[in-house]
Amino acid sequence: MTKAKGKLFIKTFGCQMNVYDSERMGEALAEAGYVTTDTPENADLVILNTCHIREKAAEKVYSELGRLKQIKTARERQGHGTTIAVAGCVAQAEGREILSRAPVVDLVVGPQSYHRLGDLISRAGQKRGGIIDIDFPEDDKFKHLPARPKVARSPSAFLTVQEGCDKFCTFCVVPYTRGVEYSRPVREIVEEAGRLAQAGVREITLLGQNVNAYHGNSGRSEPASLAQLLRALAEIPELERLRYTTSHPRDMSDDLVALHGNLEKLMPYLHLPFQAGSDRILAAMNRKHTRDDYLELVRRIRAARADIALSTDIIVGFPGETDEEFIRTLEVVKSVQFSQAYSFKFSPRPGTPAAAMDDQVLEEVKSSRLQELQAVLNEQQAAFNASCVGWNLDDVSYKAFRAICVHCLKVR
Ligand code: SF4
Repeated sequence: MTKAKGKLFIKTFGCQMNVYDSERMGEALAEAGYVTTDTPENADLVILNTCHIREKAAEKVYSELGRLKQIKTARERQGHGTTIAVAGCVAQAEGREILSRAPVVDLVVGPQSYHRLGDLISRAGQKRGGIIDIDFPEDDKFKHLPARPKVARSPSAFLTVQEGCDKFCTFCVVPYTRGVEYSRPVREIVEEAGRLAQAGVREITLLGQNVNAYHGNSGRSEPASLAQLLRALAEIPELERLRYTTSHPRDMSDDLVALHGNLEKLMPYLHLPFQAGSDRILAAMNRKHTRDDYLELVRRIRAARADIALSTDIIVGFPGETDEEFIRTLEVVKSVQFSQAYSFKFSPRPGTPAAAMDDQVLEEVKSSRLQELQAVLNEQQAAFNASCVGWNLDDVSYKAFRAICVHCLKVR
């Protein structure tokens, strides 16, 4: 039996991929002898698993670190040590800056090094001034993470199948914080899904920053597509529902679109960001699709699965966006009729091309466009919700609606 090392508290910010990473870090550290606790005041080891997608993300982390400094000092007075680690995308993006600005931090660890956490934490405890590991190692971290627990925490689980992104949308930090696209081999994913199913999981959401670009080793000469991976997972008898997120319109291949019409376990729900309705803005965003490409794709998806619930991401006030170009966005929304959407004002992310673009849109203009857009989206969501009233819980469409919000992480 592993000797208890202490209590662990992990605070997770951001998307489902961070939720999955936090679970895996918790599992790796449980194997190393840590037990989880609900409050940082009781914790010998605190990990902030951070997100860089929102504005002022790094500032939020520094303010959280200010609170943790007080906790660490109070615990020291009682004779307890506390190791503080910053993980995730802010760790990757800010690196050494975190150790300079917040000397309370003992370890800065990037998303590709979680399998080395046990060792890094021991080293951090022995070295003053903190240590840092934000490499993109050749080594596949998934191979070194422990097997999933024997008893599932919930009937629904996340499973990361792809990481990184090669698209380089001009507003997005992901290609810089998570690196180039990497797809896990099919066999490794099917084994992990099989273990989750044995542990009681009935629904799996496959995760990737650009999940439908999945092209994992299939054991044959050609890599497997996401559609082939989903078909392989559907063979696991205990699994009842499959989902995947987040997708890029360019990577919705014909076989994946067709699968929505013929794989019963694939839930009729799809998150498909379109970001803006003007072709000029889409080109400035480097989205690699046009408004008509998107609308035609939606038509094909609905031809395959008429009752599919669609959600999306939209940015208003991208640099240079005119009133007319914003109206193109409203037109797409009115044409598609989304069941759910995540809409934001453009906010510059340091280091991305869009942050340095001229013609930044005034804050009050962005606010008023967002308000106008959200009024339309709220109406569409209310109409979709109203259409669900009276459904039987076994109704397949209800299952589509029971999606997990990418931002609040509540099951809706
Ligand atoms: S496809 Fe998605 S993850 Fe990749 S750069 Fe664009 S917004 Fe970021």
